[in-house]
Amino acid sequence: MALKTEIIEYVEKSLRRGFASFGGICPIACNHCYTFMRGYQHKPDEKVDDIVNSLKGKVYDIIYISGHCENFINQEQGFELCEKLFSSYNCDIMLTTRMVLDVGIINRLSSLNKKMCQNGNTLFVCSSIPALESYRKLEPSKYMPSPRERIRFLRDVHNEGIITFLTLRPLFPDYYINTTELLQLIDEAQDASDIVLSSGIVVNEDNLKKLCGFNVKKATTGHLMNCLDNADISVQYVDVTNELKLLNEKSCFLQLPFFSESLIAVKFLKLVSNFPINKRYDAYKRYMSALNGDIKAIDDFMLVAKTENEKAFWSGLKEKLKDSKSNNEF
Ligand code: SF4
Repeated sequence: MALKTEIIEYVEKSLRRGFASFGGICPIACNHCYTFMRGYQHKPDEKVDDIVNSLKGKVYDIIYISGHCENFINQEQGFELCEKLFSSYNCDIMLTTRMVLDVGIINRLSSLNKKMCQNGNTLFVCSSIPALESYRKLEPSKYMPSPRERIRFLRDVHNEGIITFLTLRPLFPDYYINTTELLQLIDEAQDASDIVLSSGIVVNEDNLKKLCGFNVKKATTGHLMNCLDNADISVQYVDVTNELKLLNEKSCFLQLPFFSESLIAVKFLKLVSNFPINKRYDAYKRYMSALNGDIKAIDDFMLVAKTENEKAFWSGLKEKLKDSKSNNEF
């Protein structure tokens, strides 16, 4: 179910998001990576305390550890960043990595997750994987673990009771990375992930040079995501509508919630955090119906809302949908 942009924006605005990342040029150098586009403003390579302090002066619901480079090449430093961000801002943390973290770090993440849960917060761990057999077309670095090693890592994290995302990003059209590889990944990771997240590849002439044999057949022109502070770089958002549909169908067949925007997924997980695990998938279907304009579903969520904030979220959504309907937008 594709969501309207204004609904996505409404949900995203309900969460105050910050970004934290080490800087410099990422040594992993994936072929698809936007950080190698000409004109990309690299962050300076700062120490953990400087990154943490740079976020001061605002309140956050969630801080993403991702964006400008792989943040767990030095695993100790990556973990220290998670720990210090939580102790400074007392908010949810979402880390995204393509690496496989050591058992010792997983144990420390598990302890951090328990501490965060006691405070009403959540740690989300996302493992990014863009392909199965053909991943070397995109990720040629010798430091890059295989997709199956990354799934094992995700399972180990999941077994510690941490919320995990199988992040199938970036998603390529089937003619370049066969979608059956990704369907297989979902199959293999079904017991390792709480959520499946995927979205399409963004290209311009710089990364296209490295993506041998990839031709853009259908795309929308735009600028690199605002949240990266590099919005002046012109890019093409490659059309992967059919591929997303197939991943969505596969995930739903396995009763795994599927999203293409991470904050929509985070909002869902926060709203259903008190629901029994076996009711989560039904709640996911109702949540997606609500975001697609089902007023009855919104009323049902309002009835079980735990906090004034949640009630305000649902009533604001209801108003927004009524406005959209009166303007014949739905
Ligand atoms: S690991 Fe991440 S940041 Fe580094 S090159 Fe690959 S996609 Fe880019």
